[in-house]
Amino acid sequence: MELITNTQFIRQAALRGGPIRAGEKVIEYPDLDYIAVEDDACWLCGGHTKGLGISTKKGIKDTFTDQDLAKNMTSSSLCQGCAFCLGQRSLRNYSLLATKDKLQHPGRSEFRNILLNPPEPPFLFAIAVSGQRILGRILSSTNYLI
Ligand SMILES: [Zn+2]
Repeated sequence: MELITNTQFIRQAALRGGPIRAGEKVIEYPDLDYIAVEDDACWLCGGHTKGLGISTKKGIKDTFTDQDLAKNMTSSSLCQGCAFCLGQRSLRNYSLLATKDKLQHPGRSEFRNILLNPPEPPFLFAIAVSGQRILGRILSSTNYLI
């Protein structure tokens, strides 16, 4: 069993599942190019980097307003999960459901059924309220053992 963070779980789900339907759109989430990073822990989620990610200088823009959610201020590295989630606008703007097998962007009516009949754990979901800024809520919730 391995402890991974929410952003790492979302990245794994997105890379396993292929293109994702979001309303009328079909969204693809290609993985990013990562580099070797020095820090063992991610600046944002605090999860293990396993030596790969991107620098905070590259991944955290001046407009990023959730800096108070950073779990490891001494790090200057982002793990692959955080780099992936920060680099994908659609992940921030659409509601999402991540399971071990895939990522989905359910609509509001679909979420009703998901909440009444949740998938087998582990899973993670985030419901967009205003169509944006759900990443902060994802980061502030708990980590997963998978
Ligand atoms: Zn991270």
